[in-house]
Amino acid sequence: MARHTITLIPGDGVGPEVSEAARRAIDATGVDIEWEVHNAGLDVMEEYGQPMPDHVLESIRRNKVAIKGPLTTPVGKGIRSVNVSLRRELDLFALVRPCKWYPGVRSKYSDVDLIIVRENTEDLYAGIEFQEGQPDTHRLIDVIGELGDRRQIRKDSGISIKPISIGATRRVFEFAFRWARANGRRKVTAVHKANIMKHTDGLWLHVAEMVAKENGDVEFEDRIVDNMAMQLVQKPELYDVMVMPNLYGDILSDLCAGLVGGLGLAPGANMGDDIAVFEATHGSAPKYTGQNKTNPMAMMFSGMMMLRHIGEGEAADRLERALAEVIAEGRDVTYDMKADRDDPTAVGTSQVADAVVARLGR
Ligand code: NAD
Repeated sequence: MARHTITLIPGDGVGPEVSEAARRAIDATGVDIEWEVHNAGLDVMEEYGQPMPDHVLESIRRNKVAIKGPLTTPVGKGIRSVNVSLRRELDLFALVRPCKWYPGVRSKYSDVDLIIVRENTEDLYAGIEFQEGQPDTHRLIDVIGELGDRRQIRKDSGISIKPISIGATRRVFEFAFRWARANGRRKVTAVHKANIMKHTDGLWLHVAEMVAKENGDVEFEDRIVDNMAMQLVQKPELYDVMVMPNLYGDILSDLCAGLVGGLGLAPGANMGDDIAVFEATHGSAPKYTGQNKTNPMAMMFSGMMMLRHIGEGEAADRLERALAEVIAEGRDVTYDMKADRDDPTAVGTSQVADAVVARLGR
């Protein structure tokens, strides 16, 4: 059996707990993995002077595959999100987030099986921002005012720039069609607001339509993002793979996670041309740090995606079945999966891992 070397970044907050639980579950599949464990985030700032030290990036570049726990982004302290810079540094341009309902999950919905593909490098999240009151911001406002008959931007504005390029749009749609085909999905939906933002979302839609023509074997349609939000709540079963720019992808990922049981169950994969970094949709949930309380299943499902990615599909299927059994039984699950969040029968993070590992060992 081939040995895989994989970078593991435990993360901070509840990251180390859910990552350890996921590592145990992945190891219990019997796949031979050598873990290269590297810390990143606020905890290593003092030691290395940056939250994502070079040796961590080098490990991911060398191994081509990583799984990471969540990393905290402090609010308003001038530190850019480590997650955003990791995606940019490694050019992980597509974030794949499956939202699948499993029997036993408490939700208003059943039979939801959606995939969000979120463009990861552009849009309002590109980080090109101008602070209110700064000389550069005033200059930019003046230049925009001079450019023809555009409406004047108020002087006391802050500005965030929204770039959407032909190249980045094309590659994320080409990825989505490839992914849809490889995973037996029937339809790709392009999500946008092209009726209002003609030169960004309009371009996005135009490029999507071109790529769709080149991939005629997969069905294609488009939806305006506000309508998409309503449709997802009313009839999620109509959709399959949805491709969207960064900001809409961030928001609709949480909406879709809500359809299938919440953040504790929502996995993800940041994909580049030859590097993949797997991580849950949820963040570091700091208020639960060290309490053995949060749900490790989102990280475990991310591990399942990782196993499929490295060609260990049979092990991935076994991990998925073990998780589905634990969910269906409803006994060894964390507080977020109980009808009442204060249910005293809820188990902790490591007990979920025990239950999943026990099933894999049978
Ligand atoms: P969060 O996802 O950390 O937590 C929001 C709430 O969701 C929690 O308080 C908890 O009630 C629930 N929750 C989250 N994960 C859960 C789990 N596994 N099991 C059970 N319940 C769970 O979101 P936040 O509070 O907005 O962000 C906290 C920090 O995490 C911020 O610094 C943010 O920047 C960071 N973050 C990191 C990532 C990442 O590393 N990819 C993603 C999102 C947020």
